[in-house]
Amino acid sequence: MAEIRKIGIIGAGQMGNGIAHVCAASGFDVVMLDLSEDALKKGMGVIDKNLTRQMSKGKLSEEDRAGTLSRIKPTTAYPDLGDCDLVIEAATEDEQVKRKIFAQLCPVLKADAYIASNTSSISITRLGAATDRPGKFMGMHFMNPVPVMQLVELIRGIATAEETFSLVRDMVLKLKKQPVSAEDFPAFIVNRILLPMINEAVYTLYEGVGSVESIDTAMKLGANHPMGPLELGDFIGLDTCLSIMQVLYDGLADSKYRPCPLLVKYVEAGWLGRKTGRGFYDYSGEKPVPTR
Ligand code: NAD
Repeated sequence: MAEIRKIGIIGAGQMGNGIAHVCAASGFDVVMLDLSEDALKKGMGVIDKNLTRQMSKGKLSEEDRAGTLSRIKPTTAYPDLGDCDLVIEAATEDEQVKRKIFAQLCPVLKADAYIASNTSSISITRLGAATDRPGKFMGMHFMNPVPVMQLVELIRGIATAEETFSLVRDMVLKLKKQPVSAEDFPAFIVNRILLPMINEAVYTLYEGVGSVESIDTAMKLGANHPMGPLELGDFIGLDTCLSIMQVLYDGLADSKYRPCPLLVKYVEAGWLGRKTGRGFYDYSGEKPVPTR
């Protein structure tokens, strides 16, 4: 069976930089690609900050911090991914964006390499069919924040070969994460359950049942959730939340998944949560302030 030594990551955003961090920390060589030098600089900055935090807590030596950073090569050029053994796509949750990425990646990627997508919700079978190697393609769904969260959902497309699945599963174990297998249904397991709850919290706000603060406090103290659903939506990114709801709505054709109009409005306004400084909370000051 093939061995994975070098990993390509497409997207240096919250998920891409987290995946690059954990792969490099486990000794893999990593090439991280994004559209601009700016996005790469931001992604590398987050990795550096997170490694420094781990070091200050005594969880990491200076040598390991420097070693991890030195194993990550940022790039904007697809040919730099050519000799990777596995490429993990972690770009924006938009099927057209992902299709365009595979069209650029496949011609330069060596023929025996594997491709995985970190998509939260899009059909793995359909994404695999957009590549030149559906047998070597599968879903590898990390959780946010990647360096902290234990779970990785593994999803087979209809064409995914068993060898691909076991190779990627072994690699997840090398990252010291826990794999769980999910079937290729819209949003898989975690988001199939989590996102309708976040969407329902936005409806609860929209209908005036509670304020941002009362909804989040109610779910933290009443359901023992570590984060309130609106706080969690801001953390995930409201654009990502909306895309997942749309995939559930279209894919399962059930009106119970319709995205809340208030969620749509926030995304239209560019209020995407933490990453843009405003969502259901305003993050411009020292402490997040509820906006409704
Ligand atoms: P993000 O907005 O933080 O980052 C996306 C990155 O992709 C950006 O840096 C953007 O510049 C880059 N990008 C866009 N088009 C590109 C292209 N053509 N080529 C290369 N890079 C491109 O988003 P994110 O939260 O990191 O989400 C990325 C993926 O991970 C999505 O598929 C999302 O569904 C999935 N995911 C997200 C979460 C979460 O909690 N945010 C959790 C699990 C999985």
